[in-house]
Amino acid sequence: MERRDFDVIVVGAGPAGSAAAMVTAQGGAKVALLERGLYAGSKNLSGAGLYDTAMLERLYPNFHVEAPIERYVTRKMLGFITPDQLMSISYQDDKKALAPYEGYTVLRPQLDMWLAEKAVKAGAYLFTQSVVTDVIKENGAVKGVIVNDNEKLYAPVVIAADGVNSFLAKAAGMQKEFHPHQMSLGVKEVISLSRQTIEERFQLKGNEGVAFELVGSVSGFANGGGFIYTHKDCISIGLVAQLSSLQASGHTPYQLMDDFKQHPAIVPMIAGGVTREYGGHLIPEGGYDCFSKLSDAGIMVTGDAAGMVLVTGYLLLGINYAIESGALAAQNALNALAANDFSKASMAGYNKLLNESGILPTFKKFRKAPVNVVNNVHLQNNYADLICNIMHNLYDVGNKPIPKVLPMAKGVLKESELSMGDVVKDVMKIGGALLW
Ligand SMILES: Cc1cc2nc3c(=O)[nH]c(=O)nc-3n(C[C@H](O)[C@H](O)[C@H](O)COP(=O)(O)OP(=O)(O)OC[C@H]3O[C@@H](n4cnc5c(N)ncnc54)[C@H](O)[C@@H]3O)c2cc1C
Repeated sequence: MERRDFDVIVVGAGPAGSAAAMVTAQGGAKVALLERGLYAGSKNLSGAGLYDTAMLERLYPNFHVEAPIERYVTRKMLGFITPDQLMSISYQDDKKALAPYEGYTVLRPQLDMWLAEKAVKAGAYLFTQSVVTDVIKENGAVKGVIVNDNEKLYAPVVIAADGVNSFLAKAAGMQKEFHPHQMSLGVKEVISLSRQTIEERFQLKGNEGVAFELVGSVSGFANGGGFIYTHKDCISIGLVAQLSSLQASGHTPYQLMDDFKQHPAIVPMIAGGVTREYGGHLIPEGGYDCFSKLSDAGIMVTGDAAGMVLVTGYLLLGINYAIESGALAAQNALNALAANDFSKASMAGYNKLLNESGILPTFKKFRKAPVNVVNNVHLQNNYADLICNIMHNLYDVGNKPIPKVLPMAKGVLKESELSMGDVVKDVMKIGGALLW
């Protein structure tokens, strides 16, 4: 008889791993949740906006009351930024202020600890300071893992939830090395401010919150963007930049963060604040075309480990897909345990569940967004300038006679680094990725 220490081993106690461990344990399986950090969430970092509240309520009944939510996102803002201009679009929706709300701002250490606690309460065994250093493979199937270089743990199902650049997916032969153009570096700072100051500066009442995404000079000449999220008594401010173009730009992320924080439109938002945390983390932004193989005999790959971060230019969604994919892998693990079948075909039930849930169709639909939008050099560097300069001219009544809008915009375009041909090509590219 094969050795079996656990029914399921989940590697990584981030959102994906804790959700996977909770659902498998709820289904009666004996589950080990292995985390390399001192505690769940100790090494994790996000913006962080958390969306798809219907899915969260389904998995965690009463999530909006019990989870460590900071604020409800009632206002979304999109900004185009140059070194001395900011043009922003603000969308306020009071429907979002009604429970269970449409999105939350969260702080990852608190959220991750809460999610891990849910897994433990369901019966999973959480082992911290446990680094998975290899997979055990026999006859082409994953049969377990090696922990801290020496301890062998066996289970017929292993769920890889070890985050971006997944060691497990690579060790199991399911993911190739990433190229720097498929990966972005996110850096962020948490700045303490009083609750009252935040509410006054961002015109919020009660637990309302803002999620502000910015594009343009914020990432230097690297492809990327910036973000600001309001929490109860602090603000998350950060930027994301594609690794290859960051390297080519010659900027350091720290210098870009300093420039961002000193922007004339940003200074008043954070003035008087005290930095509480500072960190950096990679984000797999390649989309569907950079996904790892999702399942194989004895193993399934979830969340960032699989590459499930959707970035469209106006959305950056990873935590919700991590939680949902973890739960779906768990559901499939329970099916496999019931059938006592851990073959490649049985594990592929996970791919089917991802398809039925709408996750795979969404990623497939937006598969061109990483190249055509997120890493579109013009969009990242020139359109923010163009839009801000059009706004500048729109309100410049010193121009006599005042021009009508279209000839004025044509004049601004002519003085920019973009040609009409570039604009037409970009409309087709961006349209193909996002609009049709
Ligand atoms: C700056 C930034 C901003 C972001 N903003 C947002 C946002 O606003 N909204 C959003 O939805 N997403 C956002 N994301 C993306 C989001 O953070 C990820 O998609 C999400 O954390 C993925 O969850 P996960 O569980 O798959 O991986 P992770 O959260 O990375 O968890 C992986 C876990 O595995 C552990 N681990 C790794 N290797 C091993 C090993 N060998 N052995 C044992 N344990 C291991 C790690 O310590 C970690 O706890 C952002 C990311 C960054 C970097």
